[in-house]
Amino acid sequence: MTQIYDLHCHSDYSDGILSPSELVSRAHAQSVDVLALTDHDTLAGIAEATEAAKAFGLDLIAGIEFSCQWNGRGIHIVGLNVDIDNPQLQAAVESQRQRRVQRSETIAQKLHKAGIEGSLAWVQAKAGKGTIGRPHFAQFLLERGHVKNINQAFKKYLGAGKPGDVKNVWPSIEEAVAWIVAAGGQPVLAHPDKYKLTRTKLRALCADFKECGGTGLEILSGKQNPNVTQNMLALAKEFDLRGSLGSDFHQPDQPWQELSCCGTLPAEVPPVWTCWEH
Ligand code: AMP
Ligand code: MN
Ligand code: MN
Ligand code: MN
Repeated sequence: MTQIYDLHCHSDYSDGILSPSELVSRAHAQSVDVLALTDHDTLAGIAEATEAAKAFGLDLIAGIEFSCQWNGRGIHIVGLNVDIDNPQLQAAVESQRQRRVQRSETIAQKLHKAGIEGSLAWVQAKAGKGTIGRPHFAQFLLERGHVKNINQAFKKYLGAGKPGDVKNVWPSIEEAVAWIVAAGGQPVLAHPDKYKLTRTKLRALCADFKECGGTGLEILSGKQNPNVTQNMLALAKEFDLRGSLGSDFHQPDQPWQELSCCGTLPAEVPPVWTCWEH
């Protein structure tokens, strides 16, 4: 029988809402057979997710979603089936954590200059045990009434070129790929359609990603338009990248990113899991 894969999702160790155990339980209820937990720049939820997966008879793949930059743009690279005990990977995670802490201080200063006080303590409390991200600032701006919704927080304050935007935070895609490879994992270019790149620039990104050792591309990300799927499939074929898929689930009230929502990979490209399943 065909297995159901979801190889991209978030817990409350980054900007997701559910704990790793709640996430695994929900994945089981959504008939997922193989789940990769890919929190932003942290592996902290993997141990709990692995334990929960045993109880539900589900296969848990250790993953991570690294923030990086390419030609000044934010790009996400997912690492799948990594060895979480690898020292290089652990050092990388620590460097990313420090980058996030420093960035949160800078964002708070920038918001302060824009007349918005008190964000740092608020987001630190909100992030709790997890990595601090812009979604925490967005939540703060929403609760303080500075914006009407989360999307507006990014549009007005946190997105590229806005008052709270911080540049040059992240490592290159080469570095992120190297960390994942060092830990025996598969580097996968996350949600290529979300970067709003022209076809030419997206092809350039795929070429650079492949050249520095990338092996996979998310052909399916959340519920997506079939045209997008065809475009992503063509990219994977052109650059000889294996196919991956994931919901990018963050929280239960977003049906377009529900666990297992992305269906099954087109058969024309080899799936990324053939690298670790024998
Ligand atoms: P960060 O990793 O801290 O830079 O935050 C990026 C995260 O913010 C992404 O992974 C999304 O979960 C979320 N995000 C980015 N843009 C938006 C948006 N326009 N609306 C809601 N969430 C967003
Ligand atoms: Mn996120
Ligand atoms: Mn992402
Ligand atoms: Mn994600």
